[in-house]
Amino acid sequence: MKRRDLQVDVAAVTEAGLDIPLNLGEDWFLAWQAEDPELPFPEPGAVQGSVHVEKHGRDILVRGHLAGILKLSCSRCLAVYAEPVQADFDILLVPGPEPLMDEEELSEADLDLDYYSGETVELEGLIREQVVLLIPLKPLCAETCRGLCPRCGADLNREPCTCEAAKSESPFAALAKLKI
Ligand SMILES: [Zn+2]
Ligand SMILES: [Zn+2]
Repeated sequence: MKRRDLQVDVAAVTEAGLDIPLNLGEDWFLAWQAEDPELPFPEPGAVQGSVHVEKHGRDILVRGHLAGILKLSCSRCLAVYAEPVQADFDILLVPGPEPLMDEEELSEADLDLDYYSGETVELEGLIREQVVLLIPLKPLCAETCRGLCPRCGADLNREPCTCEAAKSESPFAALAKLKI
């Protein structure tokens, strides 16, 4: 279900612009996850912010600010943790449809360029894209996360496993194996 507050009537956008508060909580994340089960959010996050939408001729400039937390899985220990995030974005929406030309030619400007068509600007998809951009390439619960033991799978943040101990007790164990 599309949230009505994220659908902006083009006719209502003035040159001075309008401000739309964002409060993306559990419901928003759950609805998104239901549509896209591949999302890397093991639990709903909570992101607040605002979007300013203003008209420049036929183009619409969207400036936004997002801040909050995303619930992610640590890439080392797999634990769910809260990643603090924040970002500002500027996106220029030009009347669509999207032309069939090289993206390269269009992306020279500093502004991100996107398209709108019809009488409504759908901020939902645009904001989802921005939230995806907030996900780190390698999520970590902490820089010092020790991860899981590759042999026994124990969470090394909680307790040292016996694999390490066994290895250090017999430094020639690996050599012994080779002789077999
Ligand atoms: Zn971790
Ligand atoms: Zn182990």
